[in-house]
Amino acid sequence: MSSNPPESWGRSLAVRLTLGYASIFTLSAVVLFGLLYVLLATAMERKDREVIEARVKECAAVYASGGLPALRNLVQLNSSDSGKSKSFFVRVTGVLGSVLFVNVPNDWLPTDASALQPQADASSLDWLRIPKDEERDLTVATARLRDGSILQVGRSTNSRETVLQPFRRNFMLVMTPTLLLAVLGGAYFAHRATKPVRDVVATARTISDTGDFSARVSAQMDRTELEELATEFNRLLDKNQALIQGMRHALDNVAHDLRTPLTRLRGTAESAVQTTPDPVAREALADCVEESDRVLTMLKALMDISEAEAGMMKLHRELTSVPALLRQVIELYDLISEEKHIAITTDFATDCQASVDPTRMSQAFANLLDNALKYTPEGGQVHLVCHAADNTVTVRIRDTGMGIPASDQPHIWDRLYRGDKSRTQRGLGLGLSLVKAIVEAHQGSVSVVSAPGQGAEFVITVPQIPLAG
Ligand code: ADP
Repeated sequence: MSSNPPESWGRSLAVRLTLGYASIFTLSAVVLFGLLYVLLATAMERKDREVIEARVKECAAVYASGGLPALRNLVQLNSSDSGKSKSFFVRVTGVLGSVLFVNVPNDWLPTDASALQPQADASSLDWLRIPKDEERDLTVATARLRDGSILQVGRSTNSRETVLQPFRRNFMLVMTPTLLLAVLGGAYFAHRATKPVRDVVATARTISDTGDFSARVSAQMDRTELEELATEFNRLLDKNQALIQGMRHALDNVAHDLRTPLTRLRGTAESAVQTTPDPVAREALADCVEESDRVLTMLKALMDISEAEAGMMKLHRELTSVPALLRQVIELYDLISEEKHIAITTDFATDCQASVDPTRMSQAFANLLDNALKYTPEGGQVHLVCHAADNTVTVRIRDTGMGIPASDQPHIWDRLYRGDKSRTQRGLGLGLSLVKAIVEAHQGSVSVVSAPGQGAEFVITVPQIPLAG
């Protein structure tokens, strides 16, 4: 499976899913945490207020029935009853603004008098919260009594902060593992979920890079939508492969069926050339013979290729000097190379013998040399190398021609494939398919190394002595 290079990570579906999942997970955790905090704070505040409100009502009732002395008694009673509960701050301010009564409990924090100043329009119950320090604040309720004076009851609410403070402090402590969990969990699920997509991409890439139509996406057990995509993709490939095989068979059959009538046609035209007195008709018949030869060569190549691919090519192997074979082939192309001013140089090691079919191997070498001369401009060079090692003879044919684009390289071995820039040259697009078929029939391999404008090097390797089986 190919891994993504760093620069394409941003475009990776798995990375985007991971980031999306981690963001939503983190956001949910933050919202949940915040909500809990607010609920807890509100609940605690409500509790504080309930206690103070009850106290306000109690003080107001006592004041209404017994005036200030009764209120003082109540407050003193509560203060002496310490330990049972916290005592309250109680203050009564007269209509003219003078303080009539005040009780300050021990845990009451000194506070600015103006902060406690009751509002002139104080309604039945107003609330005031005065933050004091990190852990404590004061909550004060203000109520207007029936005679117009103002009653204030307050309490230090440090207990609420002692709970909320660690809650806030621990936020980052909780969020760090949460975030880590979100990223790791997201990465795991995203990686798993996108596996079928990666498999489909890898299979499609294998097919376009190597031309191997038998590649398939690996089977999965689950039936998620993405895995269905992989299954459908496989079905599509099956159909495609069947179609390609059908086309090949049709091509083979056509080649086979056309050969006999075409040979007969050529024979008839050839004998007519010799007997026809009319020079114009003779020239036309000669053209027919030439064209028939061209088509017959093509049909023969097609049949040879399908024969070799089916493992039916008959090889007449004999121990052959490969350099000697190459020299014979070079001789055949002497004229063309001279015409194009292309220098053919060689570097042949001695003792490069192999058990091959000399006719077939010559055909393969000739096709490669023919291409090298065809696709190299005038004044270029073609260099042939032959050496042997480890029971293998290697032949390299290197030219200084136009080269082959990387996108074309997997396809040049296909039947009838011709590069875009090669269409101006003569050719049928069968030469390399035949080379490959012949070399593979000899249990060898052929490959190319090339870049546009930098020439091409074809490398053939064949075993010196074929392996049994
Ligand atoms: P063709 O009849 O077109 O030469 P081949 O099967 O021999 O058919 O080659 C297939 C294609 O491979 C060619 O059309 C050409 O694009 C490319 N090719 C083959 N050999 C060379 C080479 N030596 N230099 C550049 N391109 C080449």
